[in-house]
Amino acid sequence: MKTTALAVLLALGLSPALAAAAEVNVYSARQEVLIRPLLDAFEAETGITVNIVSGKADALISRLRHEGRNTPADVLLTTDAGRLARAKGLGLLEPVRSAVLDAAIPAQYRDPDGAWFGLSMRARPIMYAKDRVRSAELSTYAALADPKWRGRICVRSSNSIYNQSMLAAMIAETGAAATEAWAKGLVANFGRPPQGGDRDQIRAVAAGECDLALANTYYLARLVTSSKASDREAASKVAVFWPNQDGRGAHVNISGAGVVRDAGNRAEAIRFIEFLAGPEAQKLYAEVVQEYPVRAGVPWSPVVAAWGRFKADDLNLSLLGEYNAAAVRLADRVGWR
Ligand code: FE
Repeated sequence: MKTTALAVLLALGLSPALAAAAEVNVYSARQEVLIRPLLDAFEAETGITVNIVSGKADALISRLRHEGRNTPADVLLTTDAGRLARAKGLGLLEPVRSAVLDAAIPAQYRDPDGAWFGLSMRARPIMYAKDRVRSAELSTYAALADPKWRGRICVRSSNSIYNQSMLAAMIAETGAAATEAWAKGLVANFGRPPQGGDRDQIRAVAAGECDLALANTYYLARLVTSSKASDREAASKVAVFWPNQDGRGAHVNISGAGVVRDAGNRAEAIRFIEFLAGPEAQKLYAEVVQEYPVRAGVPWSPVVAAWGRFKADDLNLSLLGEYNAAAVRLADRVGWR
């Protein structure tokens, strides 16, 4: 670097290393192939290179813990507010103040301290067999504990953060005792011991093993758009019902990102998250992951839009982290394996 250029950089308060090769290192629980178009757009707009390390969500959190101060990671990009709250609780994330993010993302979808920010929203509605259940028979999550549904409900294990977060939301809203009574009734209505992921519950409804399932919306979208005819066939037999529409709204969650505590590229990390919250990126991101944009006014993908508008619970999702431990103990007590 020439002396004059260096002098200019120093006068601007920029470190020469930063100016020489701006980059951001992202630990991502989302597949790189899926988000590549977004990364390309970010690189083109900012000149900042994005390096992705992909992995399973919980494995990435373990890795951050073990690497500690030596981690190369600047951003953690993962799913579920309960999980992001856990990363915050472990001291892995550094709070950020960003007027851009505060304006783009509704308050309930980001951590009050700025440790993480929701970038896409997913809902966990009831999915039902079109040929055996009428939508008029459905109303609330609470009603799923009714003996009418004995042996008819498929849900995955409570080891899944999705179910833990759903229970945590109920504890936050209705209290531990009511949630436990409900979970007991739900377990009594299981059509089979929990097995597989959300897609398997939807497939079980299509196959007639159960009449209802609780599953995240994007899993149904993946079946709808699957390259396998059997998946598309299964999806065609199942419909979405939005519960709690006269009450708090359907249970929702987010995928999101936070700046890593020991990030070496903090400014680039913030810029990356701000980019993902922008109107163009929100549309593209929601489309590739088949979720809902968190930013208002951004159009939904046709697959997602086909299930209709709905009222989403506006509980501040940071509470999912607060009540996670209570949710896990509760699930254990009611025998939700
Ligand atoms: Fe998932």
